Amino acid sequence: MGSAQAATHNIASNRIVSINPATGVPLGDVPDMGAEQVGAAVARARVAQRDWGKLDVGERCRRVRRFSVELMKRAEKMIDLIVAEGGKTPVEALNTEVGLVADLTNYFCKHAPRMLAPERIGLHLLKHRTSAIHYVPRGVVGIIAPWNFPFSIPMGEVIMALIAGNGVVLKPSEITPLIGLEAREVYLAAGLPPDLFQVVTGRGKTGAALIDSGIQYCVFTGSVATGQKVAAACGERLIPCTMELGGKAPAIVCADADLERTAAAITWGGFANSGQICCSVERVYAHESVHDELVERIVGNVEKLRQGDPASGEVDVGAMTWDRQIDNVDTLVQSAVASGAVARTGGARPGGPGLFYPPTVLTNCTQAMDVMRKEIFGPVVPIMRVSSEAEAVELANDSHLGLLAYVFTKDREKGKRMARQVEAGTVMINDVLNTYGCPETPWGGVKMSGFGRTHSVIGLRDLCEIRHVNVDRFAAKKELWYYPYSRKTYRLMLRAFKLLMGNKRFSL
Ligand code: NAD
Repeated sequence: MGSAQAATHNIASNRIVSINPATGVPLGDVPDMGAEQVGAAVARARVAQRDWGKLDVGERCRRVRRFSVELMKRAEKMIDLIVAEGGKTPVEALNTEVGLVADLTNYFCKHAPRMLAPERIGLHLLKHRTSAIHYVPRGVVGIIAPWNFPFSIPMGEVIMALIAGNGVVLKPSEITPLIGLEAREVYLAAGLPPDLFQVVTGRGKTGAALIDSGIQYCVFTGSVATGQKVAAACGERLIPCTMELGGKAPAIVCADADLERTAAAITWGGFANSGQICCSVERVYAHESVHDELVERIVGNVEKLRQGDPASGEVDVGAMTWDRQIDNVDTLVQSAVASGAVARTGGARPGGPGLFYPPTVLTNCTQAMDVMRKEIFGPVVPIMRVSSEAEAVELANDSHLGLLAYVFTKDREKGKRMARQVEAGTVMINDVLNTYGCPETPWGGVKMSGFGRTHSVIGLRDLCEIRHVNVDRFAAKKELWYYPYSRKTYRLMLRAFKLLMGNKRFSL
């Protein structure tokens, strides 16, 4: 199956074949678009955006809201496709993809008019004038997406960009292109302007062409290596961008953690979506006083997980999505075991069809191992014993990545104190993964996990240009500092500055 998928995904032709990773069955094929088709899509979106951008935010929200209505009407069809093309279970396809996007759409349709309303700035010195920030559309936003959440990652961004008044061109991953195309079908069924949102299918070159097509903003989600290329290409063209890149989320388990809750959370956080989540639990630092019991509980949980073709609806862990990724995972596991790690569950790729890697728990891990340093992006949870919480924080921060981090403790105040020391875009205490499903909270990383944020008022405003409008409050023929300059004006202004700058009530 692996080589079959590699062969079809890399065929030297102008078509890309999409394959069901659990069965190896081809699902369809799409064009590998070149610069000309991408440029034409951006041009169509630009024309459509002119009218769309003139609508007020409330009206845009009323229209976009129809997307979530249409999506829920077609939920089963979309879920079946996500299961087939992505390899995840129906529960995950509902919770983390279709349901998440419907909720995000409704959330922003309700709150965007307030979030994007002009904001008055009271001027502290020039009180005869007034300023306001207006959030105006950027133009055409290019969205380049990965395969691990082939619906919710791009469509959350698409919905927000549309509400912000932009046209959108989406380049879905070449591993899961059919989901991107089906998402546009839902959009069309919602009666939204056809040219305003376009989907261009293809590989990396298509993504590169999108950046070169005159877009005004780029939202990229993917690996650090590609993100570096995309950020450089955006930099050359001075296109502002959001970079949502890889993660290596640490779970710090304190001596006072509730071990039942912690083990359940780490099991789900490590193996949901076959561990192919940028915020999956990628390494565990367990205090020595609870390490052994925690390991036994996690191993016990993992041994009960059922893995298989997700289409059956009766499995907990589906298939991995991409054959190259399953090879990466196996390389990391074998290298860790060769360096002294112990595979308490899983640890070896079974034969047979389908991209299945068994849920694997590794103990005796050390910080020097690649499995503790590189992004695994697969169903593997490596665990390391630490002697103090301070050591755990230090090891958690010893990473080039900083997307999410998790702290488990019954003492929430201590958890919050530790959260301030951990270098990550989001720190969750006694939970994992879930905040991606909270559209009101910002999502994004520090260090090489990227920059900018998606979701939340911050992510919505990032999709807008900031226009500062400054206006007079009453008519005057001229300002004091206009021409002509004179000694009299100078003395007057100097007196005014001395008076104001020396006045504590004014400056503090
Ligand atoms: P990837 O970097 O291989 O590909 C992402 C997208 O970039 C694809 O659509 C691809 O075709 C396109 N691309 C490739 N080369 C390009 C180029 N030169 N110019 C423009 N576009 C190009 O990533 P992937 O394997 O699809 O996704 C997995 C990675 O994504 C993991 O590292 C994961 O952590 C990360 N990710 C991050 C987040 C987040 O929110 N931070 C979310 C999901 C996934």
